[in-house]
Amino acid sequence: MHDIRLHNTLSGKVEPFVPLHPPCVHMYTCGPTVYDYAHIGNFRTFVFQDILRRFLKLRGLHLTHVMNLTDVDDRIIANAAAANLPIRDYTEKFVQAFFLDCKTLSVQSPEHWIRATDNIDSMVQLIQRLQQKTFTYDSEGSIYYRIAKFSDYGKLSHIDLTGIQAGARVDNDRYEKESARDFALWKAPKPGEHFWETPIGPGRPGWHIECSAMAMKFLGETIDIHTGGIDLAFPHHENEIAQSEAATGKPFVRYWLHAEHLLVEGEKMSKSLGNFFTLRDLFAKGYKPSALRFALASVPYRRQLNFTFDGLQQATSSVERLRNFAARLKNEKFLAGSQKNMAGRIAKAADDFDAGLSDDLNTAQALAAMFDFVREANIAMDKGEFCADEVKPAQDFLATFDKVFAVLEDNDNEKLQALGFGTGPSTDDAEIEKLVAERQAARKKKDFASSDRIRNELLERGIILEDTKDGAVRWKRK
Ligand SMILES: [Zn+2]
Repeated sequence: MHDIRLHNTLSGKVEPFVPLHPPCVHMYTCGPTVYDYAHIGNFRTFVFQDILRRFLKLRGLHLTHVMNLTDVDDRIIANAAAANLPIRDYTEKFVQAFFLDCKTLSVQSPEHWIRATDNIDSMVQLIQRLQQKTFTYDSEGSIYYRIAKFSDYGKLSHIDLTGIQAGARVDNDRYEKESARDFALWKAPKPGEHFWETPIGPGRPGWHIECSAMAMKFLGETIDIHTGGIDLAFPHHENEIAQSEAATGKPFVRYWLHAEHLLVEGEKMSKSLGNFFTLRDLFAKGYKPSALRFALASVPYRRQLNFTFDGLQQATSSVERLRNFAARLKNEKFLAGSQKNMAGRIAKAADDFDAGLSDDLNTAQALAAMFDFVREANIAMDKGEFCADEVKPAQDFLATFDKVFAVLEDNDNEKLQALGFGTGPSTDDAEIEKLVAERQAARKKKDFASSDRIRNELLERGIILEDTKDGAVRWKRK
């Protein structure tokens, strides 16, 4: 196994990954702001952190992973007030949709899902600690963080603070680097908005304090890994560092990992360009969850991902190729014994796969290791040179692969049905094998009408049958 190395935004370098208390790893992911359905750009980041968590677990590390649901922020407060609904009632629909979307993309649940609205006390306590250390000041019922007092401000996003006017404030949760200002920790209530009565006064938390307070509450004052999309590095993560480190005097996060943006057909995704997609938009067009997961995972997380429909089609074929290979291993008869070259080939492929993921989660390299092997093994099988002793090691390698990539199991139809998409007849392995066996039985009885009917039915489901010389039958997906 190779040493794990990860790119740390804090240092700007790829560093060896050593947890603070091995084998435990404490990891925090900024989850979605639940005011709308998450889009594929969001899921690029969530699939990245899922690949990371699955790989760390594969390597035997004990993961405690927390993901929050941001259910208090400017947009939610405004939308809930406009809809005249309590916050939880307004967000619930999007929370449940997010959970279902994650399940559909095989994004594992973290050890803790947490909500901002359940942790207001911790946020208030953290603000009180900052007040005691005089990192704050009050203005018109709101409480602000004084960035000039935190000398490390800017160390994550490397912003230039010269020329920033002391005492200039920003009330919005989201702003650009050019607008770096003292930011709101606690916001005074406006008429009609939801607020909490607390020891620091009535109001609601700013977005940034939520993650600092919840990360430290569930994972401790210094955590191993914090992940998010690159657009969160400033101001959100910069402000998280300022709040947490000013309060504790300790490093807040040891490794900051950020996923790059997703483009659609080379352009920034936006509703006005008509290239804005949620998962459900793509499923409605007939694409499969496994293909979408594969497409999102296939580009290493620090590279921009140009999402295209051609790419999604290729991802569909790639997943089919893997599933067909797994089916060959399971269904075909191979020569007894072992073939030395192939045994070595499997070991090398498994090593290349591990090397790829260890190198800052290079998923492209890990996938190349698998597909090169599949191509060579398929050729060997076609020539009758693949031997029975190599079946188990090859299946073990596929199983290891799938602990991270999670696309082999053909449960796409089931998942789509759970989302309410009407899908065609089943193409699950068990169902197909049942039909193949029925056709074999019909042929044995020389009932060629039935045998042809079943063959056509399978063809309609995208399954091709190949009758072999020895009377057996092989099937694969188109
Ligand atoms: Zn966050």
